[in-house]
Amino acid sequence: MEKSLVGKTAVVTGSNSGIGLGVARSLAAQGATVVLNSYTDDDADHALAADMAREFDTTVTYIAADMSKADDCRALIEKAGACDILVNNAGIQHVAPIDEFPTAKWDAIIAINMSSAFHTTAVALPMMRAAGWGRVVNIASAHGLTASPYKSAYVAAKHGIVGLTKVTALETAKEPITANAICPGYVLTPLVESQIPDTAKKYGMTEEEAKEKVILERQPSKAFATVEQIGGTAVFLCSDSAEQITGTTISVDGGWTAL
Ligand code: NAD
Repeated sequence: MEKSLVGKTAVVTGSNSGIGLGVARSLAAQGATVVLNSYTDDDADHALAADMAREFDTTVTYIAADMSKADDCRALIEKAGACDILVNNAGIQHVAPIDEFPTAKWDAIIAINMSSAFHTTAVALPMMRAAGWGRVVNIASAHGLTASPYKSAYVAAKHGIVGLTKVTALETAKEPITANAICPGYVLTPLVESQIPDTAKKYGMTEEEAKEKVILERQPSKAFATVEQIGGTAVFLCSDSAEQITGTTISVDGGWTAL
């Protein structure tokens, strides 16, 4: 089958693990040149890029940049040199009641999960305009549309990135550029997977029960989404069929937000 993204350059923030890595792999599989990113600059990060380049027969590089810092966010896009597809994915979590929520955690979550997307988008849009084509794909969350207690910063940042997505779409509405947010429910990433045994132990359940009754409590399908499904959704948003899809959210949440 013909690869649909040959000649396009994709920058995926926070892509040395989890959803970002899955999305990067899906874009590379379609022939896109991919820039991977995280805040570390280890041999393993560069090896990941080299392996992906070999696997998908495309160009993959790794650029270290800390998405909690405005200048790093902007430098990432500048160093990439081109950015036809921008996937704002980097994110962290902290869980605590509002009156106990550490200020430093609030600031870090707002910076990484939301403000980074403003800075990368600001530098990427002129590149997209010059190239005459662009796609902004923001990885929000079901928590960009609904709330849970104890996740104040995360829910605020994810609602914020949904708002930023709409503004980006309106400012580019007459151009061949779209901006959308993917809102995943629970996705089976290494981080989530590692929580299953502890959750089972804590509630005195089998791992299967802990998955269904605790972790996937709010996900009616009682199944995790996969990083491949999020990657497939991003590829769809980059396709010609999605040309008139802009400023919206696509939930990949097993029915969570239908409740
Ligand atoms: P993850 O921890 O596996 O991946 C997060 C990525 O962000 C990693 O590559 C990490 O290195 C990177 N990162 C963290 N801090 C960074 C920083 N300061 N600068 C640059 N990179 C940084 O988690 P994930 O589950 O893959 O999450 C990815 C995104 O998907 C996040 O925005 C998260 O909120 C969102 N999300 C995840 C789920 C889920 O169930 N896993 C559900 C909805 C939304």
